[in-house]
Amino acid sequence: MSQPFKPKPDWIRNTGLVSVGYWEPLYFLKYRGGQSTEVEAEYERAHSDDSLDALAAAGINLVWIHYFKGFGLEFEAEEMERAAEYIQRAHARGIKVAAYVTLGSLTPETLLPEEPEAQNWFQVNQDGLPPTCQTTFQCFRVRPCYNAEGYMRYLERVCGAALDAAADMIHFDNLGYNAEPDTCHCPVCVAAFREMLREKYGPHGEETRAAGQARFGHNGFTHLRPPLYNRWNQAVNQRRITVPHQQEWVRFKVRTLTRALERLSSHIQRRNPDCAVEANLFKPFGENTAWLHGIDYAEQLPHLDYAFSEEPHKPGLINAQGAAISRARTFKTARAFDVAIQVYHQDDNERSLELSLAENLAFNPKGLGHFGTPLSGYWAPGQAQRAESEALPRLTKAYVEFYRRHREELLLRTRSLATVGVYRDSASLAWNSVETHLSQLNVEQTLLERNVPFDLLYPNHLADLPRYKAVVLANAECLDDETVARLKAYVEAGGGLLATEQSGAFDGWRRKRPRSALAELFGPEFPGGARQEYGRGRAAYLPRLEHKARPETSPDVWYIFNSYWAPVGNDQELLDALRYAAGGGVPLERPRAEREAAGRGRAHAFRRDGRARPEPGPGGAADSTGGLRPLRGTSAGGPAACAPARLRPAAFRVRPSPRARSVYTGRSAAVCTLQDPVSSGVWAPRATFQVESSRLCFSRARVILISALALSS
Ligand SMILES: [Zn+2]
Repeated sequence: MSQPFKPKPDWIRNTGLVSVGYWEPLYFLKYRGGQSTEVEAEYERAHSDDSLDALAAAGINLVWIHYFKGFGLEFEAEEMERAAEYIQRAHARGIKVAAYVTLGSLTPETLLPEEPEAQNWFQVNQDGLPPTCQTTFQCFRVRPCYNAEGYMRYLERVCGAALDAAADMIHFDNLGYNAEPDTCHCPVCVAAFREMLREKYGPHGEETRAAGQARFGHNGFTHLRPPLYNRWNQAVNQRRITVPHQQEWVRFKVRTLTRALERLSSHIQRRNPDCAVEANLFKPFGENTAWLHGIDYAEQLPHLDYAFSEEPHKPGLINAQGAAISRARTFKTARAFDVAIQVYHQDDNERSLELSLAENLAFNPKGLGHFGTPLSGYWAPGQAQRAESEALPRLTKAYVEFYRRHREELLLRTRSLATVGVYRDSASLAWNSVETHLSQLNVEQTLLERNVPFDLLYPNHLADLPRYKAVVLANAECLDDETVARLKAYVEAGGGLLATEQSGAFDGWRRKRPRSALAELFGPEFPGGARQEYGRGRAAYLPRLEHKARPETSPDVWYIFNSYWAPVGNDQELLDALRYAAGGGVPLERPRAEREAAGRGRAHAFRRDGRARPEPGPGGAADSTGGLRPLRGTSAGGPAACAPARLRPAAFRVRPSPRARSVYTGRSAAVCTLQDPVSSGVWAPRATFQVESSRLCFSRARVILISALALSS
């Protein structure tokens, strides 16, 4: 069930990356259209020594450079050569370089003349046509078949060339499948799908024979096709995936993509264990990624060192329910797999840029993120003065410099102190695109906004459950027997479980069980609201979550957009049940620990009033050992004072204060949450403690509380 995580190159753990990128080769910029008339001059500028000097001076330590865009190794050779030469010049300035390699896009008109075999590498959809890359309108880009042996060997050659060119990282883009019915039905995929089913459910063994009879009522897959769709069976209308044949096809796509990534990752690691592997893997939370893209983080993240996210759920948006939108789930998921992550700071106004940066610092100690092209900011050649004269560059520079100065001390060697784990069950989220996602997102949203630190857990983490005081199942419908056994053993041994709604009502194939597989944990009150001690642990069940908005039954709703995200209406009930399951303590309820935290470390914060400075310690003098003290804000005037203020990175000393709402200590760490609504702060800890919560202040004094995970080693 769980895969070992790829060993990480040391430099990924120790560096803390701040990146920009120039990953589109010139021929692609022209071919996709929409470029400037100055495209060639800009291209030269992006590759110039001047640019590299400016990047180095600005503290950028990673650049993505174009390498392979699916046009063909011969066609692209000249630009690949240019990239190799760029890497040398970047290294001379201490800058790491990631080589961009598309994994999911080929351009037949340039590739086929040099590689006629590539005719067999394109995906073939159910109509016999090649699917093109989804949503970009770049209709010349064709999806490759990830089962095509020739294509995978070709990509190994591409990676080998990038390694020869001394790339420090290989970045894979365009991962994933198009949504049904635009997936690969080529003869190789059909044969591999049949073989997968035969292996699991064929007549050759007693166990597989029984499994086939149980799953399909037969054991013969010789003539089976991938699922076909037509106007009466439209994939876009399908919210629940209950047909075994379709479920297995989803699993097949996930497996195929995982194997492709694993193969390339292993190839790179064998050739050069110091070369990191990155992929643009993340999709918006709320999407059923297995069904829509063949993406399952539990399967694919173990093969990466780094991940990139273009997730649209940026902080700063308050939806109609009053919920604060964030990328917290992306950061928490990456952390669950020991994968560093880059998010894209593309914001065009100060407030949203600052929120994006502050959110990153709160949740993502291993990197500051990605800032677009080498020509876009104050790191562009000759643009350094913009960091003095313009608001956005000034703000960016303040954060970049802060991160560079403090990453070693405050951020890089941190770990989570959360004592609550929220389980994301693969089958429950793959076989139902609506209800399970709604509950999952909104339980997480409740904990985020109520400031309960939590980790996200995936099937890979079932062996780690004893690390948590409580584990939450949010409408985890489809628990297979092995997962149920693990959960029961965890509770028996003293763990706490909180489950909601239909959790355990189905098996891993989404077959209805006569009674929830977890029922015995909850005792006689179940299926009403129930609590019970079980073994040495506790289990609580909440039959209902009050969602503030529910998606209508309409083909227009095919995933849980962030307009449906909100803490549940019965949040207090949820938190009470969680408290019971955790044995009476979740982190926020341990104010007694406040004293213990004093004198144990420092925190840094992002002040809104720009008056950051060392605060006197308990002894009256500036105290290098520190304690905890909330930031003072300028909020006495209320909302108006909050809106225009700026968050300012600043290191300062802290000491205990009655204004700290709560603090708790772990073995060698403490977490603190502040109550002052204008103490906008992203807190990070040093050595022995870290503050675990960020408050991001924006928009007429709306304060978002984002529970971060924290850290200290
Ligand atoms: Zn295929």
